[in-house]
Amino acid sequence: MSNQSAHQHNAACLELFAKLSEYLDRELEPDTCKKIEQHLKECPPCRNCMQTLKRTVEFCKSMETKPVPSELSKRLRDMLEQLR
Ligand SMILES: [Zn+2]
Repeated sequence: MSNQSAHQHNAACLELFAKLSEYLDRELEPDTCKKIEQHLKECPPCRNCMQTLKRTVEFCKSMETKPVPSELSKRLRDMLEQLR
């Protein structure tokens, strides 16, 4: 479907971003993961953000420090600002 307005698209992005950190930690139901993957396929900006976030999380893990949740949500908020 390609008749989504920018506003609806943003709402979908917001919903996705709220779940993205859980998605990366694989804490979500398979159904929810599929929904996110579907959105990422159709939404290049979200795909870029997800890859950046993924790299951040992997970097934190490779440094053997726990990802700081507040730092992560701050990043997510910055990315959302860019989408607006
Ligand atoms: Zn999106």
